[in-house]
Amino acid sequence: MIRFMIMATCVLAPVLGQETYQRTLLVELRHVPAAMREAHGVAAGSGTYSFGSYDPERILSVVGDTVLMLATPAELGKATLEGLEATVVMESADKLMLIKRALYGPTLMLDEIYHSYDRIVRRAEELAKVHPRLITRRMIGETTQCKRPIYAYRLSNDATKAQARPAVLFDGCHHSNELMGAEIVLALMEKLVTGYGQDAAVTAWMDTLEIWLVPVVNVDGHDMVTSGRDPRWRKNLRDVNSDGVTGVYPEGVDVNRGYDFNWAMGGTGDPDKVSYRGPYPFSEAENRAMRHLAATRQFLLSVSYHSQGEVIFYPWVWNDLPAPDDSVIKRIAADVAAHIPTMDATGSYTIAPGGPSSQSYPWLYGRHGTIDLIIETGKGAQFFPPAEVPGIIAANLKGVETLLKHTAGPGLAVQVTDAATGMPLVAQVWLPQIENETVDRRTTDAQFGRMWRLLEPGRHQVIVSCKGYSTVALRAVEVGGKGWTPLEVRLKLSSSTP
Ligand SMILES: [Zn+2]
Repeated sequence: MIRFMIMATCVLAPVLGQETYQRTLLVELRHVPAAMREAHGVAAGSGTYSFGSYDPERILSVVGDTVLMLATPAELGKATLEGLEATVVMESADKLMLIKRALYGPTLMLDEIYHSYDRIVRRAEELAKVHPRLITRRMIGETTQCKRPIYAYRLSNDATKAQARPAVLFDGCHHSNELMGAEIVLALMEKLVTGYGQDAAVTAWMDTLEIWLVPVVNVDGHDMVTSGRDPRWRKNLRDVNSDGVTGVYPEGVDVNRGYDFNWAMGGTGDPDKVSYRGPYPFSEAENRAMRHLAATRQFLLSVSYHSQGEVIFYPWVWNDLPAPDDSVIKRIAADVAAHIPTMDATGSYTIAPGGPSSQSYPWLYGRHGTIDLIIETGKGAQFFPPAEVPGIIAANLKGVETLLKHTAGPGLAVQVTDAATGMPLVAQVWLPQIENETVDRRTTDAQFGRMWRLLEPGRHQVIVSCKGYSTVALRAVEVGGKGWTPLEVRLKLSSSTP
């Protein structure tokens, strides 16, 4: 055991490649006091959630008061860390090897508590075999590089057909090294299918909602991590420089920067950076798969799981202005956050407004009216030691339970039909006192002419319009304090249609 002190002024030579790589030691520091973790830049710098402010060439994880870091023999030898227990876990000139040892553990392979994509798909198949009415699978796309199928799962008390109900989406692993997303979504799948008819809350959800799950969005990247090849892999596997070689870190596109809402404001245009947004909006098949899903099913609420920070990002703050539905969004985000305990059990998750960028939440909210939350699960690493996994899943299932309570309103349950034929219509449902030009107009769905819109109780002005029909303007629709207020609108063909 060596005692030494963190040198705050530690000079970090830029790491340009394997040849210049100097930190040959993987060092574990234990019982690092919180003040030192923060003040000396060992832990997140400015924000409670900011893992980006770690120097990833140096700090690999900070879970609890244990820090895993890369160090040079000189840094260790100078004995510049004081009052800390430090152990050299591994010595190697191969940086990836040290990172594997830090993040995968002694076997250098991912612990079995984490599921490969194949195992997730197989488990879903087993569940569907036993409960064919409760879960059905749809391929929503194929991955950019390896053409692996990207699956979405529909769950309800009769998932063999679309239901005229509010729909909710949970997805994981836009960022493939943020493994908790896939694990939480898989655990939710298991809970919903096996709990139906057994657990009263689960049964009620399945009877009144359509729940969609996409356990892994970035399937190729997830395979890089779960197969033991590279625990750092965040982006997809696109061969950005077209040299025919893939899997060389950090190549790829950040699929959580690839949506078309303010695309140019998201991430970076630099392909070597971990937040590379790609050459143009929806350049990546993973994003197109999600676009396809969102086009075929409107979601009232959704969650994109990420790691880390124990924070929920919600849409949005834009030029110092909140999102049009801010009061509803913030109320839901805060309620969900308050019900997810932190890993250290001292509190609960916090909330923070995200920017209007090319990530999933501004896109789903701005384009589709879905209140999408990014939930940053766990703290101090992108994925966690096996012992921490069940706790993080259980904590986040409490968040799911809280989120789903909000599918009961208050708000408007709109149905728009053709007055003469009773056929459902895709109509714009515009609330001019709430919406502004930052968001696309919300519409009823094609199949049922339905739309559910969460609102604050009170009077709302509602304008319903559809091409070829006379517009209906309702000056004061009273939305009750509890449950869904039904609003049926029958549109008549416009007599002035040329
Ligand atoms: Zn992420």
